[in-house]
Amino acid sequence: MKKVKYAIIGAGTAGLTAKREISRETDDYILINSGPLGTTCARVGCMPSKVFIQVANDFHRRKVFEQIGIDGADALKVDTQKVMKHTRKLRDSFTNPIINSMEKMGDQLIQKKARFIDDHTLDLGDDKIRAEKIIIATGSTPVVPKEWKEKFGEQIVTTDELFELKELPQKIAVVGLGVIGLEMGQALARLGLDVIGFSANPTLGGAQDKDIQKHIQKELSKEMTIVSARAKPVRRDSDGRIVVESEGQEYAVDLVLSSMGRRPNLESLGLKEIGIEHDEKDLPLFDHQSLQIKGHPHLLLAGDVNQMRPILHEASDQGFIAAQVAMDPTKCFQMRTPLAMTFSSPQIAQAGQTSSELKNKGIEFIEGEVSFKDQGRAKAMVKNSGLLKVYVHAKTGELLGTEMACPSAEHLSHLLSWAIQQKLDVFTLLKMPFYHPVLEEGLRTALRNASKKVPSPHRPMDLSECPDPSAGS
Ligand SMILES: Cc1cc2nc3c(=O)[nH]c(=O)nc-3n(C[C@H](O)[C@H](O)[C@H](O)COP(=O)(O)OP(=O)(O)OC[C@H]3O[C@@H](n4cnc5c(N)ncnc54)[C@H](O)[C@@H]3O)c2cc1C
Repeated sequence: MKKVKYAIIGAGTAGLTAKREISRETDDYILINSGPLGTTCARVGCMPSKVFIQVANDFHRRKVFEQIGIDGADALKVDTQKVMKHTRKLRDSFTNPIINSMEKMGDQLIQKKARFIDDHTLDLGDDKIRAEKIIIATGSTPVVPKEWKEKFGEQIVTTDELFELKELPQKIAVVGLGVIGLEMGQALARLGLDVIGFSANPTLGGAQDKDIQKHIQKELSKEMTIVSARAKPVRRDSDGRIVVESEGQEYAVDLVLSSMGRRPNLESLGLKEIGIEHDEKDLPLFDHQSLQIKGHPHLLLAGDVNQMRPILHEASDQGFIAAQVAMDPTKCFQMRTPLAMTFSSPQIAQAGQTSSELKNKGIEFIEGEVSFKDQGRAKAMVKNSGLLKVYVHAKTGELLGTEMACPSAEHLSHLLSWAIQQKLDVFTLLKMPFYHPVLEEGLRTALRNASKKVPSPHRPMDLSECPDPSAGS
């Protein structure tokens, strides 16, 4: 049996970041990975999905050409075989450097499935490893309920298989319209497929605010059929199509994209069998700051596997924290301000605390909002649709959170997450520069809207006053 100081299970973003940190201090570690190398993000997640969405958005743009005076849009066609090839080509350009660097790891990389024998020992099938500290960074897997798989076999795919398709079918059902389902469903529709999306939940694309949910529902319904109810698998029909049923209506499609959530890769690790206490969601009990498993501080849980914030930069941060805490348990790190987004059109984003989180905590806040319908730059871009809300502390005006579904939400939400992390208030933010004409002027309207509702002893000034007016200039 091999003995090491540190074992990391999972060579995804969290595991590789942990490996990077540990390797700066010692060579006494091992990285164990059972699935394909290259990380979920680069292989089947963030990166290929964004390449695919970019192509879809580029093609969709033709729909405004006539309105703005460009003729010939009708002649544009999509070759789905080429789109899929392009997606895979760029995907490979993201995964290959990761795989190449890992192949240089020699016997510090073990490509096997790990299972706990006890809380220091891992069974690798034909081998065993004993480690002082173990970082579990095994990620998550898309859920495909058994009933669906049994009925539809190869005709139900997840994002693990979608990008491997050689070409795209005519008609597709997307079951589940959370972040992944909404992104992919809209992109498929924009490439010309007949898409029917099913969601029993109003939180399309992860949106929390009710007005924003309504806005997204309205906008997305222009491009794809959205059925706001659960879907059930029914049968395969005589033409080889598969039939999905919802609220008494049947839909025959060529393929189902299952985006019904992802479950953490925990089962095969055998943590319950070695006596690790789990919560009602079947997750090991762990400390959300140190990432240490309760009662077993030498075991740490990082990345999607812990379900805290299943997005890339969080997986990376958690890999960092897990490694640092494994090396020195007295270390403590603060998480960044939450920032999440959905690459739909309009883009959806949240930063800081959502309105429901603020309500649940009993924090008094007020909302400032802006519609992008009449926003100058958005009109010039022919993207003038969207809603942005800021949540500010009712007494101090501190920016606490934001949610939006609007053009360039990816950039606006970044700006606001930085301001939230810096604990800036609306009055300070309004004194920042705003160029003209830009979408940020829309954001300024929302901030002004909020600032008027915050009680202030003086009328807030547009600009900061000089620290010492008598000094002049
Ligand atoms: C379609 C899609 C789009 C996404 N888009 C975005 C986006 O735009 N932005 C964003 O921030 N996030 C996005 N994400 C989420 C992001 O990809 C994940 O948060 C991130 O990849 C998680 O990294 P990880 O290290 O936790 O897990 P992973 O990268 O999944 O790594 C886990 C590794 O552990 C291995 N493993 C599992 N069990 C064992 C075992 N028993 N023994 C050994 N090895 C094991 C697996 O094979 C895998 O290699 C997207 C995800 C998907 C699916």
